[in-house]
Amino acid sequence: MQLKLLLVVTHNGKKMDDQVLSTVTAVKQMVDHFDVIIFGHQLDKILNQVRSIPDANTVFVIDDPKLKNFLAEPVTDVLLEMVKSYDRIVFSSNTSTKNLMPRLAAKCDISPISDVCAIDKKGVFKRPIYAGNIIESVSSQQKKLLLSIRAASFNKSSLLDKPVAKIKKCSVQIKPYKTKYIKSKITKMTRPDLSAAKIVVSGGRGLGSEKSFDLVYELADCLNAAVGASRAAVDAGFVSNDFQVGQTGKIIAPEVYIAIGISGAIQHLAGMKDSQVIIAINQDEDAPIFKSSDYGLVADLFDVLPKITKHLATKK
Ligand code: FAD
Repeated sequence: MQLKLLLVVTHNGKKMDDQVLSTVTAVKQMVDHFDVIIFGHQLDKILNQVRSIPDANTVFVIDDPKLKNFLAEPVTDVLLEMVKSYDRIVFSSNTSTKNLMPRLAAKCDISPISDVCAIDKKGVFKRPIYAGNIIESVSSQQKKLLLSIRAASFNKSSLLDKPVAKIKKCSVQIKPYKTKYIKSKITKMTRPDLSAAKIVVSGGRGLGSEKSFDLVYELADCLNAAVGASRAAVDAGFVSNDFQVGQTGKIIAPEVYIAIGISGAIQHLAGMKDSQVIIAINQDEDAPIFKSSDYGLVADLFDVLPKITKHLATKK
């Protein structure tokens, strides 16, 4: 019997989160067709995009001002109703769902399976533990599963050319809740988004100062790349913490990751080791980053970076 699966779509009010299309790829490894739920307020702008998700049957739309800021308490109320009709409820693994899924799981008395990075044919889920040093295989006896999918581990599905899925607008009773939304502070970026960029140039403690980090920005701009950083660079104040890549930062898998003056600690590798091509520049030939790199340059970054950037600029 075909499993009934509900995909929870997260968004920023204007478009779906980038991770959703990778989650669709994971979903397609479990079922042929599935339903989708989207909640928030004034969702009309996004609906055509959501209806174009391939193989989505019905899109349940729950539009309520109380759901605008994705607070876990009211959103859980909505999902509690929907969960009853499905065998699997699937989220993209992101900050919103890390807040929401455990609450929903507790209310449903289900043990959730988070950060799924692979699914095998027998329904065994793989997920990283201990900062990605061990990949755990999980199979569950539970009838109903709550899963979150790690976007970096799955290719993105393409949206259909035109919206196809049916829309079903629903209203639900949201009980009074205690959490209060105060504000969101969103950093404005002129460069590509770190989580979605094809090329990422990251700097570490080896840069030595905030000023020297300009070398990273200059190379990134030449390559139309996003900029990342190690935690040591963030802690030293070279860049703000939204640049951090790693276990406690962003987990990314760009086509090309260039690590400059980064030693390659396991906590950093946990955030970038799924990148397709890894290039490292480090003056220490024994730096662990070289073990995880496809290409390595043993050199003083202050010597080679200006030359590389100048060379690339002449090619533009
Ligand atoms: P270092 O380890 O100091 O390395 C600097 C490198 O620069 C060295 O290899 C050196 O050879 C090289 N270098 C110096 N000068 C030059 C030069 N002139 N030219 C070329 N190379 C040069 N770290 C993260 O990055 N992300 C995380 O999410 C994260 N989470 C953590 C969570 C926990 C619980 C803990 C305990 C740690 C975490 N860390 C994380 C920290 C991590 O353990 C490392 O301390 C950190 O990644 C080191 O950053 P780094 O490589 O920039 O600095």
